[in-house]
Amino acid sequence: MTPARATGPLRAAVPATGGPCFGHCKAPTRAHPVSLGAGGPAWVYACPEGVVSVVIAAGERRPDPATLRSALRARTRPPSTVRLRDFRSASRYGPELGRPSERALARSGRPIRLLYWRVYPWKVGDRPYSLFACFRHGPSGIRFYAAERVPKQPPCPFCSA
Ligand SMILES: [Zn+2]
Ligand SMILES: [Zn+2]
Repeated sequence: MTPARATGPLRAAVPATGGPCFGHCKAPTRAHPVSLGAGGPAWVYACPEGVVSVVIAAGERRPDPATLRSALRARTRPPSTVRLRDFRSASRYGPELGRPSERALARSGRPIRLLYWRVYPWKVGDRPYSLFACFRHGPSGIRFYAAERVPKQPPCPFCSA
C-alpha cells in the first residue's frame, strides 16, 4: 500500500498539520504518511528539523502494539527507544470526527482504531534528547533515532552507516 494523506473518516483523526514542536522549535508539526510494514496506514508528525511529536497507526481493526513495536524497533536507533508504555490506543467514532466522517463510519459500521506512539523529550545526564525522524529513506523506509536536541537536525546514523 502506498502511504497517503489521510482521507475519508481518517481526515479528522489524522490532520495534515499537528501542534507546535514541543520543547524544540515550536514550528507546526506536519503529518508525513509512511508505511511501517505493520499493516494499516501510519503517519509521522515531525517538525521541519525532524523532531517527532507522535507516530499514529490506524486501522479498522486495533493495530497490535507488539507488532508495531517490532516494526518500529527495526527502524530505530537505539531500538530500546521504542517502549510499549509510550503507546496509547484510541477509538474514534463518527460524531467526534465531524459529519462527513460520521456518514463514512456509519457505512462501515465500525470505529477507527488508532495507536499512538508518543516519545517525550528526555535527558541523558544534563543533555536534552529527542526522537528524530529521517525522511531521506522514503515513506516506506522511514528511520528514527535518538539524538541530542539541537536546533538543526543531527546526522542520521542510518544515512551515515
Ligand atoms: Zn522542532
Ligand atoms: Zn537517514
